[in-house]
Amino acid sequence: MKNTKPILLLLFLGFAGHLHAQKISADKKELIAHLEDQQEEMITLSDSIWAAAEVAFEESTSSELLATYAEANGFKVERGVAGMPTAFVASYGSGKPVIGILGEFDALPGISQKAQPTKAPLHEGAAGHGCGHNLFGTASLGAAVAIKKMIEEGTLKGTIKFYGTPAEEKYFGKIWMVEAGLFDDLDVCMDWHPSASTKADVQSSLALVDFIVEFNGQAAHASSDPWNGRSASDALELYTTGINYYREHIKPTVRIHYHIQDGGQVVNVVPDYSKLWVRVRDTKREG
Ligand SMILES: [Zn+2]
Repeated sequence: MKNTKPILLLLFLGFAGHLHAQKISADKKELIAHLEDQQEEMITLSDSIWAAAEVAFEESTSSELLATYAEANGFKVERGVAGMPTAFVASYGSGKPVIGILGEFDALPGISQKAQPTKAPLHEGAAGHGCGHNLFGTASLGAAVAIKKMIEEGTLKGTIKFYGTPAEEKYFGKIWMVEAGLFDDLDVCMDWHPSASTKADVQSSLALVDFIVEFNGQAAHASSDPWNGRSASDALELYTTGINYYREHIKPTVRIHYHIQDGGQVVNVVPDYSKLWVRVRDTKREG
């Protein structure tokens, strides 16, 4: 986002039921009516994305459902942007302001779940939607369509762009979309995430660095020959123990997570290889 200073707004798009008691402007009333008009389609879309539950970069059904809905509502859709088959941009209107809305739709591995409050997989071991990206992409697109209708009716002027952003649970598709300059012409970019409360907020995301640490040792039989082994998993454990002691001495804004990706394969061999995925975050990249 080179020449603009986009404001990242976290916008929770509640339906009108929550809002009847408040004083709302005519524009907002019109917007809410356009959201209400889409309610059935929104629920169907969300349920379909929930059932498809596709993980990072494999969201072909989810992405296509949203892209098709955008086209059916008069948007021009560019699929496969920034080199990602499931990324797309849907645009309508012309001129300024250029309003962007982000929509995510990928699932998480291993948390397949029926639509009920107790744990019950829809498909054992399959992926599922844990934090509501089935709602995220759907409601964002519903908001974009509502804005499009207001541009069409002449209530608003400008351009509305919906960004279908893949792989947000794992690889962050938006990074490639930023690098491809897809957000450069935006005046404002809005985003939301499912939450336990209905509220608007202005909040920045955290800067993030990922790295992989690999340890190499010497394999040996764990029972007959352990004194000749050099355990790569011991090294990994010492490293993660160090990270956890280090937590006391870092700023409260810092986050450190890690995932052991390889700690050896069997119990009776001293492993000669281990692998750790580490992620550090803070409010600013320098942190
Ligand atoms: Zn999420």
